[in-house]
Amino acid sequence: MATTKGNIGVTTENIFPVIKKFLYSDHEIFLRELVSNAVDASQKLRTLSSFGDFKGEVGDLRVYVKVDKEAGTLTVSDHGIGMTSEDIDKYINQIAFSGAEDFLAKYKDTTNAIIGHFGLGFYSAFMVANKVEILSLSYKDGAEAVRWTCDGSPEYTMEPAEKAERGTDIILHIDPENAEFLEQARIDTLLRKYCRFLPVPVISGKEQEWKDGKMVDTDRDKVINSTEPLWMKKPADLTDKDYLAFYRDLYPGQDDPLFWIHLNVDYPFNLTGVLFFPKLHDNFEVTKNRIQLYCNQVFVTDSVEGVVPEFMMLLQGVIDSPDIPLNVSRSYLQSDSAVKKISGYITKKVSQRLEDLFKADRADFESKWDDISIFIKYGMLTDEKFRDAAMKFCLLKDTEGKFFTIDEYKALIEPAQTDKDGTLVFLYATDPTEQYTYIKAANDKGYSVLLMDGRLDSHFVGLLENKLEKTRFVRVDSDIVDNLIPKADRKVADLSQEDRDMLTTLFNSQLPKNDKAQFFVTFEALGEQSAPIVITQNEYMRRMKEMAAMQAGMNFYADMPDSYNLSVNVEQPVVAKVVAAAREALSEKVAPIAADIKADNEKIEAVNKEVKDHNPSAEQQQQINDLMAAVDKIRKNQTEIISQYAATQPLVRQLIDLALLGNGLLKGADLSQFITRSVSLL
Ligand code: ADP
Repeated sequence: MATTKGNIGVTTENIFPVIKKFLYSDHEIFLRELVSNAVDASQKLRTLSSFGDFKGEVGDLRVYVKVDKEAGTLTVSDHGIGMTSEDIDKYINQIAFSGAEDFLAKYKDTTNAIIGHFGLGFYSAFMVANKVEILSLSYKDGAEAVRWTCDGSPEYTMEPAEKAERGTDIILHIDPENAEFLEQARIDTLLRKYCRFLPVPVISGKEQEWKDGKMVDTDRDKVINSTEPLWMKKPADLTDKDYLAFYRDLYPGQDDPLFWIHLNVDYPFNLTGVLFFPKLHDNFEVTKNRIQLYCNQVFVTDSVEGVVPEFMMLLQGVIDSPDIPLNVSRSYLQSDSAVKKISGYITKKVSQRLEDLFKADRADFESKWDDISIFIKYGMLTDEKFRDAAMKFCLLKDTEGKFFTIDEYKALIEPAQTDKDGTLVFLYATDPTEQYTYIKAANDKGYSVLLMDGRLDSHFVGLLENKLEKTRFVRVDSDIVDNLIPKADRKVADLSQEDRDMLTTLFNSQLPKNDKAQFFVTFEALGEQSAPIVITQNEYMRRMKEMAAMQAGMNFYADMPDSYNLSVNVEQPVVAKVVAAAREALSEKVAPIAADIKADNEKIEAVNKEVKDHNPSAEQQQQINDLMAAVDKIRKNQTEIISQYAATQPLVRQLIDLALLGNGLLKGADLSQFITRSVSLL
């Protein structure tokens, strides 16, 4: 053949600046492209040979990657099918890629994937090289070796060459700013990243050993990859040991996985892979050891957003599919129907596997629950299909460590924990130590208490409440035990309205001043044996605050003080004594004041009645204002009298402080006063 010169057939004037510009961040993938081409060429030869279309010696089919620092070259060599000058013309010169520039501009975020999929793989070499040579000898009978040279302009040279062995050398003259690709260590790292499971052995330099105080090359080739990765094998041919070994190899230094799922489909799409459930330790720190996505054993990416449902990001392992359209943007990926099918398939497989494990060995499943619950709950919260499937094997754990399915638990608590309106009340604790007394009170009453102390549990509680009909979740310390599950026959405190008003003022006046906490005093009849005062935290307010802490835009709730109920048990002997003494001391003084307030209120009521259409006359408004001011004044006076009395009753403050102490709410000066007072009361 004669030497030829020509222009590479691209529609844009010069594709190389485009490639360099847009693929900047992904420079390193040129190596993946060249090695995959070499592997493809080797496999093609093997295929031709097995069909009898190639009758020669197959020989050594390994791919070699060689760094020559002195010459400034990086060479990828194979003994595959090779190329004739016609082949090069057809496959390399005519890249006939219409609108390459537009295309790359549009998809610049995913160019990594585009390269391989649009036959630009070879040209990615120009991202790092200022000159590229192809030296090739085709497998075809009588083929002549050919050398193609191009320096990054659209002009190339093709000429006859000398080459003894069949196959192709791609020689990259690395440009100075990419000199990192002349470092053996860098090349090895890249090969391990992208090529570690390619189906043909890839050799990169020599194995090294320690000799005379330094590392030296041996004469053994350093093989980068394992050509038969585990996910390509049949599950029936694999043991647990194989899976564990594969996992340890992929994610060294991690705890062994809890279990795994071998994926294998060939219709309606092709997908193989193995997903592992890592030990999560109730945290999300696994982001750097993620699922790896392969395309025919070539590593593509470890950002699988869109390909697998969000919650699966907590899993690890490998997915290999030639059917994932990587040549599109991420947002498109998520709406792509093939990808949706893949994602749906994976979800189904994972929930099936979990259900099988649960059914096959419940004890084992329970023992792993703490590690997998965060995954399952995350899945249930974010994926409707998974949630529906998981309702069967999602476990609830009580404060004694016993496990129940949701249905089992409903049946268990139904008799004792249905309230007067027929709503099933699930009680739960978030901190068994801090909420110990409440849990005990609930247990003593025959109630079961669930443990909900996981990171996602506050959301999970909301989910179950939504999903289960006529069901309410109530934290065990959100009210006194008798109020947690309101029953028709509940006993109420036997107090007149006047007594209630007086006692409320009495107790209020002795509450510590604290702008982070707000207390509401109520009176209950809880029996002589129960505590004198129980402090509980309002469920609704607490949940609002918890949510506010987790999401932006809810500052209103976040800034509100914590709200507590102070339930005073009027049947408790000490309280009864305080109440009796207060009545005795205050009735005479307070009763006439109360009567005055009542009288003024009635007058206000009377004026209001005369008002037509909610539109008081100026005179009426004046009357109402005067009366209200009068009531206010009397009330202040009444509060003053009660507070003065309360200040002489150390027992009131003592009872309050004891309750605060039990809830860890008594601190600083209040605490030291309490101690002093305790001593003097003794
Ligand atoms: P793609 O591999 O996506 O088709 P490339 O630009 O990487 O795109 O390669 C274009 C074509 O050049 C390949 O399809 C193949 O026919 C040929 N080719 C590239 N590298 C080799 C090689 N090492 N041996 C034989 N043929 C090759």
